[in-house]
Amino acid sequence: MAKKQFKAESKRLLEMMINSIYTQREIFLRELISNASDAVDKIYYKALTDENLTFNKEDYYIKITADKASRTLTVTDTGIGMTKEELENNLGIIAKSGSLAFKKENEAQDGHNIIGQFGVGFYSAFMVADKVTVTSKALGSDEAYRWESTGADGYTIESAEKETVGTEIVLKIKENTEEDQYDEFLEQYRLKAIVKKYSDFIRYPIKMDITGSRPKEGDDKEFEEYTEEQVVNSMVPIWRKNKSELTDADYENFYNEKHYGWDKPLKHIHLSVDGAVRYQAILYIPENTPFDYYTKEFEKGLELYSNGVLIMEKCADLLPDYFSFVKGMVDSEDLSLNISREMLQHDRQLKQIAKNIQSKIKSQLQSLLKDEREKYEKFYEGFGRQLKFGAYNDYGVNKDVLQDLLLFYSSKEQKLVTLDEYVSRMPEEQKFIYYATGESKERIEKLPQTELVSDKGYEILYLTDDIDEFAVKVIAKYKEKEFKSVSSSDLGIEADEKDKENETEESKELFEAMKEFLGDKVKSVRASKRLRSHPVCLSTEGELTIEMEKVLNSMPSSPGVKAEKVLEINVNHAVFQSLKDAHGKDKEKLNLYTSLLYNQALLIEGLPIGDPVEFTNDICKVMV
Ligand code: ADP
Repeated sequence: MAKKQFKAESKRLLEMMINSIYTQREIFLRELISNASDAVDKIYYKALTDENLTFNKEDYYIKITADKASRTLTVTDTGIGMTKEELENNLGIIAKSGSLAFKKENEAQDGHNIIGQFGVGFYSAFMVADKVTVTSKALGSDEAYRWESTGADGYTIESAEKETVGTEIVLKIKENTEEDQYDEFLEQYRLKAIVKKYSDFIRYPIKMDITGSRPKEGDDKEFEEYTEEQVVNSMVPIWRKNKSELTDADYENFYNEKHYGWDKPLKHIHLSVDGAVRYQAILYIPENTPFDYYTKEFEKGLELYSNGVLIMEKCADLLPDYFSFVKGMVDSEDLSLNISREMLQHDRQLKQIAKNIQSKIKSQLQSLLKDEREKYEKFYEGFGRQLKFGAYNDYGVNKDVLQDLLLFYSSKEQKLVTLDEYVSRMPEEQKFIYYATGESKERIEKLPQTELVSDKGYEILYLTDDIDEFAVKVIAKYKEKEFKSVSSSDLGIEADEKDKENETEESKELFEAMKEFLGDKVKSVRASKRLRSHPVCLSTEGELTIEMEKVLNSMPSSPGVKAEKVLEINVNHAVFQSLKDAHGKDKEKLNLYTSLLYNQALLIEGLPIGDPVEFTNDICKVMV
């Protein structure tokens, strides 16, 4: 029979995984049990909602059998099974959409991450097996099929005999090599321990034939071997257990078992609520940002159970967008098993649960921020942007929920600070919360516009994310203090006396002449109150700042907005004298200087200059 090839990208992934130096090989069993449990969940759910199906409780189980003689390990389930097409589609393709692109970016990563990121659980079997044979009969089908593969070289599918619905997976365990021992995966005690460690909470019995020895009947000196089938897991779902019985390792294992993420969760939240709506939930804040987190492909949501039965894999209504990074599950006995997606959206109980969960997540984040700052900063690095989007979105309806969770880099502290920390440090006469925007901390540090505010000894928040300024604009005020860009026209700082002196009739005329030359490129030219050592900078009037102009105009549906720019000249700088000298005497020279200064101000802002060739020619003109 001709072998079918794995899809090209699957093949490469599979090779990588088989050859990866993976220290925790034992997790293959957890992956297979988890798939089996999902399959049983599906048939269980069907039986509960379909009158024509009748099953007994004993009909749902998973069985693990090891046979040393043939070096096989078999995992059997009584789940929903797979049709021929499903075998082909589910097991013939590893990587789902978008994953290849991701893989390329992460070429250097080892198999460890790849297993988790794609949920290629089933394939982990190849870490311990030379050959995997899956025989399955789907619910409602008369025929069974066998899928077989020895790894990256492809797979075959053929008709098979199988009486009962469900799936049987046979692993031909690899031979021991000098470096690697595989025999352990054929040992009862080892397998039992692995099941206990990773799959204890699986709701269905995991059965194993366990061999022991006992005194022979009627003869207490002679012992005999006997084998009996045992259920090796406790079957109580973790969320039903008492928090005090559980360790961090249990929560971590559940997180991994459920494929919520492959990283370690940064924090878990275990809720057991017995109020108007009763529910249990285990929620996680992940440590790492999923690779597709900030893309359209990412789907938020929590698993939703009705009294222990999974009714929805990703219930989006349980999480607001700004907490979309939260993973986990909710189980409520107050939800109907038969509820449809549409009905759920309007379900009063579900809304109540969502509200409740949201406030729990917030308070957990707050305590993380308060008590475990380093962890919080790690979290913020990955998900802070989402919180800022949250504060900005929908005209800031959620800003009160989120503003205390935001961090910005502080000029003074040289680290991330909260708004509360900023405001509590403000000297009494300081009117505003000052911020500066730019590509990076380093660039902002050099911005001429920050000079006056820094000179005054005021702290400046450095906004480096595209979303930042939009977020602070929407927040508008924190504890009665307004946000103010260091580039805005009125900084709320009294001008020095010597600056006032310079606002003479003569300089006024000079600035008017410069403005006339620049035309509508700028709204006006003015003596700067904020510059100390730099000759020139741009500031803006009105709501729209230069940074916002940049962000908005870089969007695909660019509105083509223009900030009202003001060219500010430092009248205490030597260039001012040169401008004055040229004014009235040599119009061409004044225009040349004006053009140079304007273009310099654009460069400082990181804005493109209109005509770079003209600009370099202008510089040459001053040189010769
Ligand atoms: P994941 O479980 O993350 O989707 P896997 O590679 O482990 O990825 O499995 C792929 C798919 O194959 C599963 O989603 C499921 O549809 C199907 N599958 C795997 N094992 C079984 C099983 N024992 N019974 C029924 N379907 C299964």
